[in-house]
Amino acid sequence: MVVLLTATGCQQASTTQQSSRNEEPSNVNTADNPLLANWATPYGVPPFDLIEDDDYLPALRQGIVEQKAEIKAIVNSPEPASFENTIEAFERTGATLEKVDNVFSAVNAANSNDVIRATALEFAPELAAHSIGILLNQDLFERVRSVYDRRDALGLNPEQMRLLEETYKDFVRAGATLDDNSKQRLREIKGELATLSEQFGQNLLAETNAFELLVTDPADLGDLPASLVALAADEARKRGHECDCWVFTLQRPSINPFLEYSPNREFRRRIFQGYAMRGNNDNDHDNKDIVTRMVALRAERAHLLGFKSYAEYSLSNQMAETPENVYQLLDEVWAPALRTARTERDALQAMLEADGIDDRLEAWDWRYYTEKLRKAKYDFDQDAVRPYFEYTAVRDGAFVLANKLFGLTFWPRNDLPKWHEDQQVFEVLDADGSHLAILYMDFFIRESKSGGAWMSTLRSQSRLDGDITPIVTNNFNFPPPSGDSPALLGFREAETVFHEFGHALHAMLSDVTYRSLSGTRTPRDFVEFPSQVMENWMAEPEVLPLFAKHYETGEVIPDEMIEKITASGQFNQGFKTVEYMAAAYLDMAYHTRTTTDDVDPRSFEKQAMDHIHLIREIIPRYKSTYFSHIFSGGYSAGYYSYLWSEVLDADAFQAFKETSLFDQETARRYRKYILSKGNTRPGMELYEAFRGRPPTIEPLLRNRGLLENVE
Ligand SMILES: [Zn+2]
Repeated sequence: MVVLLTATGCQQASTTQQSSRNEEPSNVNTADNPLLANWATPYGVPPFDLIEDDDYLPALRQGIVEQKAEIKAIVNSPEPASFENTIEAFERTGATLEKVDNVFSAVNAANSNDVIRATALEFAPELAAHSIGILLNQDLFERVRSVYDRRDALGLNPEQMRLLEETYKDFVRAGATLDDNSKQRLREIKGELATLSEQFGQNLLAETNAFELLVTDPADLGDLPASLVALAADEARKRGHECDCWVFTLQRPSINPFLEYSPNREFRRRIFQGYAMRGNNDNDHDNKDIVTRMVALRAERAHLLGFKSYAEYSLSNQMAETPENVYQLLDEVWAPALRTARTERDALQAMLEADGIDDRLEAWDWRYYTEKLRKAKYDFDQDAVRPYFEYTAVRDGAFVLANKLFGLTFWPRNDLPKWHEDQQVFEVLDADGSHLAILYMDFFIRESKSGGAWMSTLRSQSRLDGDITPIVTNNFNFPPPSGDSPALLGFREAETVFHEFGHALHAMLSDVTYRSLSGTRTPRDFVEFPSQVMENWMAEPEVLPLFAKHYETGEVIPDEMIEKITASGQFNQGFKTVEYMAAAYLDMAYHTRTTTDDVDPRSFEKQAMDHIHLIREIIPRYKSTYFSHIFSGGYSAGYYSYLWSEVLDADAFQAFKETSLFDQETARRYRKYILSKGNTRPGMELYEAFRGRPPTIEPLLRNRGLLENVE
């Protein structure tokens, strides 16, 4: 569940080792490229119906050419540097590049193919070189610095001051104050990192798609819900198996239910290991060397910039500020979480033995016995809720919530162009009926789509040059309707819809002047707060009946089922917390290294997990070779962010609980101080403005049922 931070020409990473890349591409044919033409579409949405795969690369390169010219104009200005002719002018640069790259990044993530993937691999180092070239442009930096040094005398408003400070910081953090040799080395490092990161993601996709578990005996399906059995049968046919059989894959919607229901322990082991070994099979798609190299390069980069470790460098720009602050939060939650998980483990071990198995519980047994225990303890079958969570009902539930809180309404606009026929398009209107945003939703799993769920921005809100409204996308990997069975979601999947929709709200309700400070372009450890807070509402007994209606009968979800959902809410939280936090610790372990020597990911990971006394029945939610958040996403030294943000979301939701779930005054403050503000003020300042005090950790511990295990 990530928010995809799209490249912004100057704000995003990277460089290259090949200086020849800095040469301006010549003879770019732009005349008939739909990406570069004026988009004569309603609300200026991308003309997806006109774009061909091979339009992207020339358009992206043209974006670079244009931004270079724009920057040259700033640098060559005969006027002394001012806020307007330097900082605002710089903010305006790269509009074409951002416009094209936003579309390209979104399509590469959600509907890729060989041409798109090749383009991504080819363009990654070019963009990286371009971005770092800007931030290491000495003449440009001198002008930025000259404005920055006079900042207190310029009469700037708070948002202008923030833009100036953030711009200056971007240059310094990229190495603008360093000598030429160090700058050159930074260019090389960023370029290599960009390529490695793209390669990591492509290896992982290949490894995920390569595995299948073929099941021929229906007994091995156990109590797997019929809709998922049908899906597995479809998958088998799709893969050319001419038998009465079922195929399970490493996509979470396939592997997780199998691990929960299949009584075949050997099969559970096989698919679990298939998942856990991705990128670690010593084949062409192995990610170990990439991890080793990326960790070393990041440490070297941090050293060049004057930091002890990459984590110190990375966190200095976040709400958490230092590794010590991150560890303080992690350690505070870890101890009670591990105690809870051990208790859970003992209960599952007993169930394994009661099944007549004289063996220790293994990681691939956990979900299976957890589901049995859930049924026994709460008489609650997760799949009994699925008929009430048909995906459009859940989607509309998120819409209803946005309506009750902020008065927003959502109108289908399937006349607008889209990147895949499965996409649904909505126009979002504000409470006063004015146009607010366009929202694309893409629900179903495809091989062309990266795994997981995310939000991305096709156009950021801004007011610098006219009222630019946001265009955002939500992306999921749910099983599509199959035959007569509709797309029914589980409780967790429904939560995911609300989560990503929360990111979308953050982008859509943005109300700022500068696009680089807009919407979700906040520090990572703040950005998960507006998304996670939405999950709180969804599970409330007052909210569920608003949307959870049986897909066949229209019957509202029964009170008895809501009671079971509420009662089992804290069930298995030891596991969930430990699984997540182990990955957060692993991320921090890699990135707090102060040396640049090579690590062996296998032994390093083991040491890191031994250090926190992780129990052997649980593995980190992501192991090194498929930890795409930190090796091909933007979350290096930042996977802790979800927990950090959860402190905020749990405490913020208390503000509604203390008044009422749809309290209009609290919702108004939440929109005003959090959702509309983007990155125009530091996260803690925004939070305190909303809540009237700093956040406390108790609501998080209580929500997760960990309070009783705090010593
Ligand atoms: Zn998220």
